[in-house]
Amino acid sequence: MSLTTIYWRVLKQLGPEARLGVVLALANVALAGAQFAEPVLFGRIVDMLSKAQATGVPPTWESLLPLIGAWVLFGLFTIGAGVLIALHADRLSHRRRLATMADYFEHVLTLPMLFHGQTHSGRILKVMIDGAGSMAWLWLSFFREHCAAFVLLVVLLPASLIINWQLGLMLLLLLILFSLLTAGVLHKTETMQGAVEAYNSQLAEHASDALGNVPVIQSFTRIDKEARALRSISDQLLAAQIPVLSWWALAAVATRASATLTVLAIFLLGTWLNLNGKASVGEIVTFMALATMLVGRMEQAVGFVNSLFMQGPKLAEFFDIMDTVPAVRDRSDAPDLGDVKGEVTLKDVSFSYDGKRAAVQDISIHVKPGERIALVGSTGSGKSTTLGLLFRAFDPQSGSVKIDGIDIRDVSLVSLRRHIGVVFQEPMLFARSIEENLRVGRPDATDAEIQDAIDRAQAADFIQREPDGLHTLVGERGRSLSGGERQRLSIARALLKNPPILILDEATSALDAGTERKLQVALDEVMKGRTTFVIAHRLATVRNADRILVFERGHIVEQGTFEQLVKQGGLFAALAKAQFMDKIAES
Ligand code: ADP
Ligand code: MG
Repeated sequence: MSLTTIYWRVLKQLGPEARLGVVLALANVALAGAQFAEPVLFGRIVDMLSKAQATGVPPTWESLLPLIGAWVLFGLFTIGAGVLIALHADRLSHRRRLATMADYFEHVLTLPMLFHGQTHSGRILKVMIDGAGSMAWLWLSFFREHCAAFVLLVVLLPASLIINWQLGLMLLLLLILFSLLTAGVLHKTETMQGAVEAYNSQLAEHASDALGNVPVIQSFTRIDKEARALRSISDQLLAAQIPVLSWWALAAVATRASATLTVLAIFLLGTWLNLNGKASVGEIVTFMALATMLVGRMEQAVGFVNSLFMQGPKLAEFFDIMDTVPAVRDRSDAPDLGDVKGEVTLKDVSFSYDGKRAAVQDISIHVKPGERIALVGSTGSGKSTTLGLLFRAFDPQSGSVKIDGIDIRDVSLVSLRRHIGVVFQEPMLFARSIEENLRVGRPDATDAEIQDAIDRAQAADFIQREPDGLHTLVGERGRSLSGGERQRLSIARALLKNPPILILDEATSALDAGTERKLQVALDEVMKGRTTFVIAHRLATVRNADRILVFERGHIVEQGTFEQLVKQGGLFAALAKAQFMDKIAES
């Protein structure tokens, strides 16, 4: 993404407030005009006075008053407009910074699990904060300074040619010199700054990765190593940043020097022109003031290009993520799924995460409403992936998934997902209270319903033991709870949602045998009247299923009831022997 593209997109990001942006920009143009008028008027007054001195006729107040009056008015206007612009620019950029973060946040949440699988949350967060921060800074400085600076440079500088072409030409040459200098440094350092930003992201990623795994770091005595790794990234970042800084420092010095030289040159050229009768004293005064002002503006402009350049890679990363399209999308006119009986049909479904290796291939399943399906197979055989296709965690590359005969891609995502309850393999919890975590699927649930879900999920005991009961905070990802406690909350959360289709992805794997047996009874009851998909390695669950699907490397290789499959003597029989034999004695 080029800097101009980035800058254009930053301005476009003003979105609904673009109109205020335009007003501010126009105010800036007026401000630039007023600022330009000041030295011109000043020059006129000086000319009048010096003419009066030469002719010996003192100037009358009547002839001076309009000029002085206009000068005062322009001065007051400049101050007033300046304050108003600064105030509104400030508020605008703060408002838009927060709105931009919210847009980004919402967008990222719609991105496919595939994206989240590949992009570290630390990086996503950094890009959000950095990107919105840089943008706010750009808006603010654009409306406060740079818009006026560019207007002055681009439009008003040529106008000075009209006043005195020799002196005007001098200023123009200065502008060209400045631009060339800046462009040169920009060209020189562009790729360098990209590398710096890559280190910046790496830094954020490493830090947040480590912070998410503190127990591992402490128990594996890796504190030193992790800290050293972070410092090493910092060192690399610094090593990459310093040459860029040196180049820009050089540009600043050269800019300053050429500015001073230009003011001096204008003074000399002006004096020479004046001695030859080609410029009045007033014109020299005007140009001295113009030159000082424009030099200041040019320095601002160079500073602006410099910062835009430094922020460029951050912003490019921000827009890259904003441009990532959610793989799973609602059609704009997608209707509601309506009431669901729970018939599920997968037809020749294939899906690959990376587009190369199929995670599941040619899966066809027909499930009647209320049927209980167990999915078994070694880990990595495609069970979770298959069930993810049901609630459109991702869409299959080929084949179709239908619920009650309706292709799920033809209905709105919200209505589809409302009808499916999922207990994930990893019971993901928010760092909020137990109650808030339970209400995730049904914010309007009554206290009695919540208690019922808790009871059925065998979670009442441990919640009672918590100091704040339902209001206990569970920590980041539920870290302050044990694995089994997290799983029971996750089950209660799905039960509270009360969906016609229920997915249990190794929902009871972290429970002890006693709790699991109790929970199993509850789950058996819960599964009644719902279409249920259970991924489990335990005999009891699998045995009670209406049908068992055996997965192997992304394919369904066998299916039938427990007895049928055992009799068949295939893969399942072998699995059952290895996994369940010890349990068969127990049950
Ligand atoms: P199971 O649930 O049967 O253990 P999965 O459905 O989770 O298996 O995985 C099937 C295959 O897809 C595995 O080879 C796994 O490595 C791969 N896989 C799972 N999730 C992802 C992901 N987010 N990105 C890339 N590959 C994945
Ligand atoms: Mg799985």
